[in-house]
Parts: sequence; C-alpha cells; structure tokens
Amino acid sequence: MKFVSLERGKVKMYTCGPTVYDFAHIGNFRTFVFQDLLRRWLEYRGYQVTQVMNLTDVDDRTIAASSKRGVPLNVHTRQYIDAFFQHKRRLNIEQAEYYPRATEHINEMVDFVKRLMEKGYAYKAEDGSIYYDISKFKDYGKLSRMKLKELKMGARVKVDTYTKEQAQDFALWKAWDENDGDVFWETEIGKGRPGWHLECSVMSMKYLGETLDIHSGGVDLIFPHHENEIAQSEAVTGKKFVGCWMHAEFLLVEGERMAKSLGNYHTLQDLLDKGYDAIAVRYLLMSTHYRQQLNFTFEGLKAAQSAVERLRIFLRRLSEVDGRPAGEELENLMKAAGKDFETALDDDLSITKALAAIFDFTRDANKMIDQGKVSRKEARAVHDLMIRFDRVLAIIGENKEESLSKEVEKLIQKREAARKAKDWQTADDIRKQLYEMGIILEDTTTGVRWRKKS
Ligand SMILES: [Zn+2]
Repeated sequence: MKFVSLERGKVKMYTCGPTVYDFAHIGNFRTFVFQDLLRRWLEYRGYQVTQVMNLTDVDDRTIAASSKRGVPLNVHTRQYIDAFFQHKRRLNIEQAEYYPRATEHINEMVDFVKRLMEKGYAYKAEDGSIYYDISKFKDYGKLSRMKLKELKMGARVKVDTYTKEQAQDFALWKAWDENDGDVFWETEIGKGRPGWHLECSVMSMKYLGETLDIHSGGVDLIFPHHENEIAQSEAVTGKKFVGCWMHAEFLLVEGERMAKSLGNYHTLQDLLDKGYDAIAVRYLLMSTHYRQQLNFTFEGLKAAQSAVERLRIFLRRLSEVDGRPAGEELENLMKAAGKDFETALDDDLSITKALAAIFDFTRDANKMIDQGKVSRKEARAVHDLMIRFDRVLAIIGENKEESLSKEVEKLIQKREAARKAKDWQTADDIRKQLYEMGIILEDTTTGVRWRKKS
C-alpha cells in the first residue's frame, strides 16, 4: 500500500503516549522509538510532520496507583511524566509538537460525550456512567476483525482494559464511586471522570482535525482502545478517522513475556545503571522491524553497543583520512548505499535492510581507506552521507547537547510565532513542553533566552 497524506507535504500523526502511573518500560519505548523512526523518515522524505502524543494522566491505573500510595493523582503522575521526558531525550526521540494531558481536556471530553448522546450512540446507565452503544455503530470490530456474534450486545464493561471475549458497551464517562477518591470533575454530564478511550479521540481531533494520516501504538492497543477510538470518532464526525494504522509488536525479554513477577522487567534507567549506553538501547529497540516481535537479550544489547561503536569509529576515522582519490569506485558505492537505504525505509520502514546497506558500505569504504584510496575531500563527502543517514537513525553523529539546543531553538521560534498570532494556548503549551525538557524560558527586553534547569 502506498502512503498518501491528506494534505500534500504534510502528515498528521497521533501516537498513543504513556500512561503515567509508573515508569515506562523498554517495551513501551520500543513503540516510541519505532514512532520516532517513522517521524524521522517522513521528515527525511520532506513531509512536515505534526505529531501529537498524549499523556494519560487519569485512568483506572493512575488512580489505583496514586491511591495505593496515598498521594494526590497529579503528585503521583508528575514524577513519571518527568521520567518519561528524560528517557525520551536520552533515547534521542524527537520532540512531538503537542503533548496534551487528559486532565487538561475534560471540557472537550464532556462536549464530545454530549454529541455522542445527541446522535444516539451513547446512553446513561443506572449509576450515572455513560456508555457507548456498540450496536449502533455498524463497523464496530473492523480494526480488530471481530465477528458480530462475538459481541455482547446490551451488556456493559466499565473498566478501561478488557479482552475481545468481553467486547460490549464501554464506558465513555465513569460516574464517581468511592474507589476514585478525590479524582472527579463536576460536569454537565455528571460527577465523574473520562474513560481512557475517550481521551485519545478527543485529544487527537482537537489538535489534528477529524481525520488523521497516521495513528500508531502497540499491538495491545488494537482492541479495545483503537477499536473504541474509531467507534467514538466516526460516530461523531461521520468521517473516516484514520488513514493508516501502524502497530508495533511486543517486546519479549530472553524469549519471555516481560513481567515484574518474572524479574525480567526493565526500564531504561535499569539498563543505564548496568552501564549500557542509551543510544545502544535505541539501536536495539529500533533494529527489529516494528511488525516483528523483538526479543530483548543482554547479548543483543552488547551487539547493539558494538554496532553503534563501529559506526562512530568509522566516522572518527574519516576525519583522519588523507589518501589518493578513489573516484568513481567510491562514488558508485555511495550512490548504491544511499539508494538501498532509501528503498528499504520506503518499504514499510524495513530497517534491517537499511542498516545492512550502511554496514556494507562502511565495510567497503574501510577497505578502500586501508588501501590508501580515499582523499580528504572524498572522506568529507562520506562523512556527510553518514550524517544524512543519521538524521533518520540518530545513533552516531550528533552531539546530544547540540541537538538539544537545535530542538530548543526550533520550539522557541514556534512559540514566538504562536504569540504573534495571539495563540496563547500553544505558546503556553510550548513553554510547558520546554520546562519538561529541563529548559526554562526567560522573556527579556532583547528577546527570549533559555537556560537549563539546575
Ligand atoms: Zn490512545
């Protein structure tokens, strides 16, 4: 299938972000790194990407975790939001344009539920919760390929996650009960809180419009989360919600499901504490095709570390090269490497082939350098080619500080444009986003300055 964006040269992309009840684990980051590769590839191909990644800061899990700890919800989630942004940065994941939080979009969610009720897709149950009537949406089950007879018409499920076998009317709005403690909003549709699925429909459409080019997440989100997003969104708009769905497969650890009880549960911090390089982790998470299960092993991580190191050594070596010109032989190699790299990634992000093209190229180029064949000028061209590859891979060239400041400058410019357009909400969001990246903005008489949080 060929990808065609709705608007020429632009891509509207929504990615389901972390549920901030705990630290994101490397399985979560496998999906986020895949989404970053996708984003970088689209940018490489000249698209202007607008990416929204939500933060689920109110749902069943966040409420359960904060009440177990006995702290307010926002106090509980704050540390995991901070950790998420920190890990994201360590993994060289580019900044999305928006990181909306569920708790800051309650009004929009209430409006959305009202529209669903007006159109007859939702109803209020005895306890005051509002449910989506799946029998009203004829396409229900199309994404996860469910059969009509698998659906329990008329029955209801209030929890956020459930299996296909339990498919039934799901909660859009959950009436307050004592388990929610002090987490509730007094609204026109009652005292309560949103269901998880509703959050993503509302926040994606608010920032990207009624139809998105790409929506992605882990395969575990296909049902019920994405199925329910489609049902909610298409019922409200009458339009197709998503042009292209992309789902990343599971990550296994040493061949097993990752679980705290099995002692094989890793966060990025765990791996850094063991002395591994974040970029090696990025490489490992990225280097298996997203539609294949990734088996994480420490042996694999060591191999990833040495692969990254090989590329870095090659780059350093290029700066010292001063041989006789290799001419056409090298030129052809470079052309072939570039073409293979691009053809591979154009083909549903075939990363394995793309990486093979780069490693084959470095091996051949190294051989030529051994033979004294590459001139200083040619070495610079090879260097540029490697940096071009790295715009997509983000594993070798860039100095992290430098890329951080480039990102910061870009965001400041965006914020200035928003301020000029009197779009205070966006300006404020960007300030918040920068704060989460550890950057504090200061508006001075000579313009905006930024400094790092100490
Ligand atoms: Zn979502």
